[in-house]
Amino acid sequence: MGVYLIENGTLLDATGTKPKPRTSVFVKDNRIAKIGPADEMKRFVQSQGPHKTINAAGRTIMPGMIDAHVHPSYGDIISIEELDIYASCEYRTLRAALACRKVLRAGVTSMVCPGGNWNINVALRDAINAGLIEGPRIAAGSRYISTWNSTGSFFPAHLEHPPSSFAVICNTRDEMIRETRTAIKNGVDIVKVSGDGDTSTQAGMDLVGSITLDDLKAIAEITHLMKKKCTIHARSGEKTAAAAKAGFDWVIHASYMSDEDLGVVIDCKTPINPTLSLLVNSIEWGPELGQHPAITEGYKREVDAASKILSKAHKAGVMMMAGTDSGQVAVPYGAWHAREMEHMMHYLGMSAMEAIRAGTINAAFGLGMQGQLGTLEEGKLADILVVNGDPLADIQVLQDPQRLEVIIKDGEIIDTTTPLPQPRIYPWEKPLVIWSDPRLPDQDYVRKHAKSKPRWMQQPTPKAAE
Ligand SMILES: [Zn+2]
Repeated sequence: MGVYLIENGTLLDATGTKPKPRTSVFVKDNRIAKIGPADEMKRFVQSQGPHKTINAAGRTIMPGMIDAHVHPSYGDIISIEELDIYASCEYRTLRAALACRKVLRAGVTSMVCPGGNWNINVALRDAINAGLIEGPRIAAGSRYISTWNSTGSFFPAHLEHPPSSFAVICNTRDEMIRETRTAIKNGVDIVKVSGDGDTSTQAGMDLVGSITLDDLKAIAEITHLMKKKCTIHARSGEKTAAAAKAGFDWVIHASYMSDEDLGVVIDCKTPINPTLSLLVNSIEWGPELGQHPAITEGYKREVDAASKILSKAHKAGVMMMAGTDSGQVAVPYGAWHAREMEHMMHYLGMSAMEAIRAGTINAAFGLGMQGQLGTLEEGKLADILVVNGDPLADIQVLQDPQRLEVIIKDGEIIDTTTPLPQPRIYPWEKPLVIWSDPRLPDQDYVRKHAKSKPRWMQQPTPKAAE
């Protein structure tokens, strides 16, 4: 860990106060030791022994970003089978290590990983903390505690649920409590529950709640007993409100709340991680990339509903945490983390400062580290970005890797210049789709368009003998 003077930049400390020009930040070991006007700091550091100076003139100095919703174990998936079945636990873990490096290089110095396959989130967290691999600081989530009727239970009831799935099926309260205790024994920071379905999933997994209020209370009680946090995938308003009542620490999505549901969330002071990036990116590019039209339409409905109720929630003071659901092809690792803030401004009516706080200090709540991370203040951990641009004037500068000139995590400058490996993707990692054009079963179509035809097909059909 180094000793650095980040000199003479504009300090955007994310406390909500106005940016301070001509300010320097002194980093010692892994802490922010002192912040002050550039001239004063120049004098101060003379008594501090050898240090490296980073010239931040014309630059913004801000906290490292925090993505409250990343799934390193997924592998930038294009299908449910890829998410739950292909790739061994061992290969998936090694692949996830590269995902972590990509996320860090996007200026995300901490991430919350609510859910994933096997116990990979915990292994990554520990390997990163031990210095074995490079990546953001991680709050490690468990596998999803799902029922047969909620997201996570993707395969028909006549199949056994795959052990490689990101979800573990718990249909009774006893099973849920047992799994909560198992996850905590295995070292998770966060217990993840699946409360309902997804937009455009199959029958029996609709956007209605599939877990009872008492089940949720039981999970929250055990989780909090052992000083861990719990969060829930809940797109429906009913399950969002139930999770808030049960004492869940925050809710992911919360897209379809009624005013009454929102009232419960406000009363319980439950933060929300909307996760707009997956929806908006899929709407923008999905149709060109072969996304099924029903998924596109479903996401459009959800963005409509979410933008209406969540902008109300934001106005009412509900804490919003920025998180992208990265690990799926619409939101690949390292690519779109900062875009969530832009979506929060566009769809939820946030100011740039509010969006930046959602992606720093608010998201730090997911790690239980708001006292240590998320703002630049003396005594906090040194997770710092030096940005060529003013994110308050143009939030998109945070999405441009060229403009993230210095990324410091835990007092160390991250090397962003050595090219990352570009591993080849094995065919067995991808779903085996034999024929992809839905017109193919129509043999007339095939005969008309086939480039090479057998002779009998080329000749006109002889008229039947009269
Ligand atoms: Zn997710």
